[in-house]
Amino acid sequence: MPKGVYKLPEIKNEPVLSYAPGSKERETLKSTLTELNKGGLDIPMIIDGKEIHTNDTKDIRPPHNHRNLLGYYHQGDKSHVQMAIDAALKAKPSWEAMNWESRAAIFLKAADLIAGPYRAQFNAVTMIGQSKNAHQSEIDAVCELVDFYRFNVKNMHEIYSIQPNSSPGVWNRMVWRPLEGFIFALSPFNFTSIAGNLGAAPALMGNTVVWKPSKTAVYSAHLIMKVLQEAGLPDGVINLVYAGGKEATEVIFNHRDFAGLHFTGSTGVFNSMWKTIGANISNYKSYPRIVGETGGKDYIFACESANAKQVATAITRGAFEYQGQKCSAASRAYIPVNLWDEVLQLVSDDLSKIKTGVVEDFSNFVNAVIDEESFDKLAKVIDDAKASADAEIVCGGEFDKSTGYFIKPTVILAKTPDYITMKEELFGPILTVYVYNPEDIETVLDTLDNSTDYALTGAIFSADRSEIERLTARLTHTAGNFYINDKPTGAVVDQQPFGGGRGSGTNDKAGSVLNLLRWVSPQCIKETFVPATDYMYPNFGEE
Ligand code: NAD
Repeated sequence: MPKGVYKLPEIKNEPVLSYAPGSKERETLKSTLTELNKGGLDIPMIIDGKEIHTNDTKDIRPPHNHRNLLGYYHQGDKSHVQMAIDAALKAKPSWEAMNWESRAAIFLKAADLIAGPYRAQFNAVTMIGQSKNAHQSEIDAVCELVDFYRFNVKNMHEIYSIQPNSSPGVWNRMVWRPLEGFIFALSPFNFTSIAGNLGAAPALMGNTVVWKPSKTAVYSAHLIMKVLQEAGLPDGVINLVYAGGKEATEVIFNHRDFAGLHFTGSTGVFNSMWKTIGANISNYKSYPRIVGETGGKDYIFACESANAKQVATAITRGAFEYQGQKCSAASRAYIPVNLWDEVLQLVSDDLSKIKTGVVEDFSNFVNAVIDEESFDKLAKVIDDAKASADAEIVCGGEFDKSTGYFIKPTVILAKTPDYITMKEELFGPILTVYVYNPEDIETVLDTLDNSTDYALTGAIFSADRSEIERLTARLTHTAGNFYINDKPTGAVVDQQPFGGGRGSGTNDKAGSVLNLLRWVSPQCIKETFVPATDYMYPNFGEE
C-alpha cells in the first residue's frame, strides 16, 4: 500500500518543436525517415507481453508511396482475440492491486520516452504509416500522446482526491475501483495519440485491455506498445491484436466479462456495436461502459462582419491540414455573399501555393489520404460534384493514385444548402461552401443546425460582439467544441477538452477527468469507530 500522499511532478503541455530548416530536430527526423524507409518490417501482435506471429501476413505500404513495400504485420483471428481476453483477465488482479503511483510512474515514464529518445521514431512511423507531414505528426504522435499520458495521471490524482465528508465517529472513504472485467479499446487510423490513449486511459485507472488498432495504423500501434513495455507496463495489461473488427467484436461482445468499450471512429461502426452490446446485455456481469467519440460534419460560419482573410486562413488550415482527415476538420462553410469573392480569391491563392506529395519532402503541406478505398470514395464525390447541376468545383478537383493516394485540396460550391456534401462526413480534403444572403441568416442557421446528424466542432467568424453572443447561444447544441474567430481543429489536451454530441459521440472529453470517470466504479466505505450496541432510538422511550 502507498506510504505517503504523494505530490505529482509538474504536468505541462509538451512544447511543439518547429522542424524548421537548420534545426536539430529536422535533421534527426530526416535521418530517421531514411532509416525506416529501408523497410524490413515484421510486426507481430503483442499478447500477454509476448510477440505473436501468424501465417497470415499483410503488407505495410506508405499511403503516399504505395509501391514501397515496407514489410508485413501478422494478422490475427478470433483465437487471438480470445488469447488477449484471457491475458487481460489474468493480469487484472495484480494490476488492480498495484499502487497508483506505480501505475502513474509507468505512464509518466512512457511520456518521457516518447518526448525524448523516441520522439523522432514516433514522428517517422506516423509520417510514413499514416501520411502526416512533420508538423501534423509532431502535434499528434508526440505532443498530444505525451499530454494524454501526463494529464491522465494528473486527472487520476484529482479523482482519487474526491472524497466524501465524514461525521464525528465515522470515516467515509471513496475507493475508485476499476471496472470488473476487461475493456475493449478500438482505435481509428487518423491519430496516433488517440490510438495510444484508448487503451492507456482505462489501464491507468487499474483496468486491463484488449486493444485493436486500425489496420492502416499498425506501424505506430506497435511502437506505442513497445514503449509502454519499456516503461514497465506489466504483461497482459494492454494486449495488442490485429484481428478484423467484426471478428474481434464477435468474441468480445459475447464475453461475460466484457466491461467497457473505448472507441474512436465512425458513427456507423459505433451504432452497430452499441446495438450488439444492447442485444447481449443480459449476458454480462455488469453494465458495460460505452464510450465512443465518432464522426463529424464540422463547419465554419462566417458572418457579414467577418474578416475575409481570417476566414480564408481558417478554411485553408481547418479543412485541408492532414488532408481533411481530422474528425474536427472543417468540411462545410457558410459564407455571406458580401465576403465570398474575396474569401474565394484568398483560399485559391493559398491553395495554388500548397504543395501535395510525399512526407519526406517537408515542403509538402498536403500528403496522401489513408488508403485506396478512401481515395476511390473521395474521387467519386469529386466526379459527382463535377457532373451535378447543384454543385461546382471552384478549387482543386484533381486526383491521382498512380504512386500515392493524392487528392488536391478541393472546394465545392453548393448551389443548395442541402447538397449531399454539405451533410455527409467525407473524411478527405474536400470543403463544400454555401454562399448565403445575410438577410436569410436565420434560415441558414436552421439548416446548419438540422441538416446533419453530427455535432462535433464548429467555428463562427464575426467582428460584432452581440452577434457572437447571439450565435454562440443559437448554435449551442451544434458542436461539442465551438470556436470563435478560430479554425475548428487543433484541440489541445487540458486546454480544449475534445468531444461532440448528437451523432458525434458520447462526449466524454478524452484526456479529461470526465473520460477517466468512465473507467472506474466507485465504492463508498463507511467505517464506524465505536459501533452502536443498542438498537433503540430515544424517541421510542415511554413518557
Ligand atoms: P472506422 O470507424 O472505420 O474504424 C475505427 C476502428 O473500428 C478501426 O480499428 C476499425 O478496424 C474498426 N472497425 C471498422 N469497422 C468495424 C466493424 N464493423 N466492427 C468492429 N470494428 C470495426 O474509423 P476510421 O476510418 O479509422 O477513422 C475515421 C473516423 O473516426 C471518422 O468518422 C472520424 O470522424 C472519427 N474520429 C472521431 C474522433 C473524435 O474524437 N470524435 C477522433 C478521430 C476520428
